[in-house]
Amino acid sequence: MPPRPRPGVLAIEPYSPGVAKLPGVSRVIKLSSNEGAFGAPPAAVRAVQAALDRLHRYPDGGAHRLRHAIGERFGLDPERIVCGAGSDDLIFLLCHIYGGPGTELIMTEHGFSIYDIAGRLAGGSVVKTPERRLTADVDAILAAVTPRTRMVFIANPNNPTGSVLPAAETRRLRAGLPEDVLLVLDGAYAEYLDRPDYDPGTALVDAGENTVMTRTFSKIFGLGGLRLGWAYAPEPIVDGLHRARSPFNVSVAAHEGGIAALAEPGWVERSRAHNAAERARLSAALGDIGITVHPSEANFVLADFGTPAEAAQADEALRARGLIVRRVGGYGLPHCLRITIGLADENDLVIAALRERVLQTAHG
Ligand SMILES: *Cc1c(COP(=O)(O)O)cnc(C)c1O
Repeated sequence: MPPRPRPGVLAIEPYSPGVAKLPGVSRVIKLSSNEGAFGAPPAAVRAVQAALDRLHRYPDGGAHRLRHAIGERFGLDPERIVCGAGSDDLIFLLCHIYGGPGTELIMTEHGFSIYDIAGRLAGGSVVKTPERRLTADVDAILAAVTPRTRMVFIANPNNPTGSVLPAAETRRLRAGLPEDVLLVLDGAYAEYLDRPDYDPGTALVDAGENTVMTRTFSKIFGLGGLRLGWAYAPEPIVDGLHRARSPFNVSVAAHEGGIAALAEPGWVERSRAHNAAERARLSAALGDIGITVHPSEANFVLADFGTPAEAAQADEALRARGLIVRRVGGYGLPHCLRITIGLADENDLVIAALRERVLQTAHG
């Protein structure tokens, strides 16, 4: 008999990444994975190129320079930062450290699917709580807590809905959870927000011993292909992550690219301003065509086509023009498409394709 995976592994629904290619289409515009609209920061590209003569050397396993650069940029203690091969790496580690057989992980109905995969891989069960208007419902989460609950995961803003919990709500959640339950706030899109009532997690991490914030270089910093993320956590959790992580989990290229991306002048400000303006423009234009767009604080919008059939047809119309967006049936939203905010001309093409489709439908 061949080797068999541990119980539970085969119950994992594999992650379905955003499509990147369309057969027969030469120029595709990929708006399916929330990669920043501007690509990689030029300084990061140069830094990775400059690192090519050191590829035979192991990276610094302690990520000293990188942690200090992150700490300086975000005003955080570098000793409480742990780097990973994408924030997914850190999410898997947290589930292995705090989850496992006999435990429960709580996430919300339309929460980020990696939590489900990581929680199950660790051997625990995953409980999904209902949302209210596509937003995490703190009361529903608190009501789902049992003696087996070990972790609660919230992406803030959430992917794929784009909705945000204000700081007062994440504080209320933390205050209502038992002290020994780990709260993980995933701030993958944190840099896109600029509002005073939002805490990506830093305040709650600082306030106790039971909250972790995860962040990534894959979205606003445009380095999804390098695989780089980080966690900010209380000391005992940092200690656990260092014990559990693979010793060289961040590559030489990711170190250099990440440090350079942080130093690229005006990058975050320009990206955030572009995103806010284009997100508003795209949302308004789709609204004019009669497509409901849910309010989003991230670099994508969730467009609601009313029925799964309409969403599938809209997706086909977009693909016929080389435009790839994200189907989100796997997130319980088969009537929606998630559209990443691209450059202005890319967003124009999305608007034109959907407008034309509506006109065609209206005419027959
Ligand atoms: C994109 C995304 C991530 C980032 O994953 P990486 O492994 O850092 O590329 C994490 N959480 C959410 C909610 C995301 O949308």
